[in-house]
Amino acid sequence: MPHTPLDLTLDAAELTARLVDFPSPSGSEKDLADAIETALRGLSHLTVDRYGNNVVARTDLGRAERVVLAGHIDTVPIADNPPNVPSRLDEDGVLWGCGTCDMKSGVAVQLRIAQTVTEPNRDLTFVFYDNEEVAAHLNGLGHVAEAHPDWLAGDFAVLLEPTDGQVEGGCQGTLRVLLKTKGVRAHSARAWMGANAIHAAGPILAKLAAYEPRKPVVEGLEFHEGLNAVRIEGGVATNVIPDECTVTVNFRYAPDRTEEEAVAFVRDYFADCGVDEFIVDDHTGPARPGLTHPAAAAFMAASAARPAPSSAGRTCPASARSGCPPSTSAPVTRCSPTRSTSA
Ligand SMILES: [Zn+2]
Repeated sequence: MPHTPLDLTLDAAELTARLVDFPSPSGSEKDLADAIETALRGLSHLTVDRYGNNVVARTDLGRAERVVLAGHIDTVPIADNPPNVPSRLDEDGVLWGCGTCDMKSGVAVQLRIAQTVTEPNRDLTFVFYDNEEVAAHLNGLGHVAEAHPDWLAGDFAVLLEPTDGQVEGGCQGTLRVLLKTKGVRAHSARAWMGANAIHAAGPILAKLAAYEPRKPVVEGLEFHEGLNAVRIEGGVATNVIPDECTVTVNFRYAPDRTEEEAVAFVRDYFADCGVDEFIVDDHTGPARPGLTHPAAAAFMAASAARPAPSSAGRTCPASARSGCPPSTSAPVTRCSPTRSTSA
C-alpha cells in the first residue's frame, strides 16, 4: 500500500488510524520509522536522530529537567483472515486494527505532544523504537541504550504502553529457578530397586500449591507477587523409574526485595522439600516506582490518573520485553489512554 506522509496535525485518534495503516510487524518497521522521522524533521523545535529503525527527537531548551516519552513502533504479526490492517472504525466509534492498543495509540500521543508542545516546562525526549514484541536482544531500545546512551538521558521516563489511563509505576523482578530432584533408575517391573525422582518432586508441588502471594505496598503502590511452576520435566521411558525431575519455577517479586533477597527467599521456601539441586536459570531485577521523584510527583499531580503498580517486567537492555525504563537511572512509569486488556 502506498503511504502518504504522516500528518501530525490530525487528532490523536485519526493519527492512530494512520499509524495502524503502516503495517509494522517486528522486523518490518522501516516504512513507519521513515515516516515518523520525516514528520519530526519538519518540526523546527526538535533535534532528530536515527539509529537503525529507531528515531529519537529532543527539545533542547536548557530546562532543569528532562522527561523521556518512549514507545515501540512494531506490532505482533498481522492477521489475514480477516485482515486487521488497514484500520477500521466501526459504527460504535471503536477503532480496530493491528497495534491499535499496543501501542500505536501511545505513539500517536507522543507525536501529538511533539507537534503541539513547543515550549514544554521540562525538556522532552521522544523515543520511537523497533522490535519490542520479539526477543530482548533485538529490542531497539536496548540497541540505542548501548550505542547512544546520551540520547536516552532523562530525569523521568514514561512508556506509553496500554494501561487504561492508569499510571503504572516500577516493575516486578522475575526470577526463574530449576529445582531438581534425583532418584535411582530401575525397571518399573522391579521399582523397589530404584527411587522415583518424579515422586520426590511431590513436596515441591505441594509447597507451590500452598503458596500465599505477598502484596507489599511500595511507595504507595500495592504489588502482587507470584510463585509458580511453569514447567516440569522428568521421565526416561514408560517402563523406567525416573532418576531425575526438574520443576521450573518463576518468581515474580515486588521491588522492595533485592535480587539477592529474592533468590534467598525462593531457596528458603523450598528448603524442606528435598531439592537436590537449585539452579538460578534467569533473573531480571525489579525497579522501584520512583514516584517520589519531583518530576514524577509533578506528573502524578497534573494527571487525573490513579497510580497502580506495574505487573510487567522490564524492557531494559538485556532483559524481557514490555515494561521498564529506557534509562535505568530514571524513575519510570507506564501510562496511556488505551485498554491494557485489549493489547
Ligand atoms: Zn507494547
